[in-house]
Amino acid sequence: MSEDFPEKTKIFVVAIDGPAASGKGTLARDLADILGYAYLDTGALYRAAALEVLRAGGSCADEDDAERGAGALRAKIESGGQDAALSNPDLRNDAVAQGASKVAAIPAVREALIGLQREFAQNPGGYNGCVLDGRDIGTVICPEADVKLFVTADQGIRAERRMKELQSKGIDATYEAVLADMRTRDERDSGRRAAPLRPAEGSVVLDTTDLSAAEALAEALRIVKQTLDV
Ligand code: C5P
Repeated sequence: MSEDFPEKTKIFVVAIDGPAASGKGTLARDLADILGYAYLDTGALYRAAALEVLRAGGSCADEDDAERGAGALRAKIESGGQDAALSNPDLRNDAVAQGASKVAAIPAVREALIGLQREFAQNPGGYNGCVLDGRDIGTVICPEADVKLFVTADQGIRAERRMKELQSKGIDATYEAVLADMRTRDERDSGRRAAPLRPAEGSVVLDTTDLSAAEALAEALRIVKQTLDV
């Protein structure tokens, strides 16, 4: 590095991947809060792309519709609409979750959203670290991340957590229906050819089946601090 270009402060990147309702979202948000890092929920990007498709009356499994949806989302983000697009409560609907996992299997959609995620990891606006969570953060988006966690839990436990979450919002949900939805989404996310869900090389697997959110957070913090201290 030449003297004219002093080395930029290195951004500490924490990559968190895992299946639906594994606890990774809460964990990632809490970790970012405690460490004073920026946070990006990359699932919200795929959900927002799916919402664009559904609002336009398209099909999330159709390549052209999905690519158009991702393009529309990107245009909104590039013109400063990121916060509004990613905090829309409609993103949390189950229909949108299923749509997200359909658009996410289409390579052109992933391609359209890679740049935004990498840009965030490299320049998290004034923070000296960031936490990203999703399905391919450690494998594709940030393979050089300082810490990679793969957060998982037994599928039945995840379905039970999701059912309780829905019921607490007053949404009528049976265990069987939630489990069936989760199975479909897990299979689509792990079985797709484009960036399938799997633990990244060098990742630490954190199984939260028997852990409370506080215990999972304590373990994740221990792992991050171990890396920060060396
Ligand atoms: O994490 P969340 O459940 O919000 O993600 C919604 C869907 O978006 C996932 O089921 C997955 O198909 C897709 N996704 C992805 N890659 C990411 C984040 C989410 O394929 N990095």
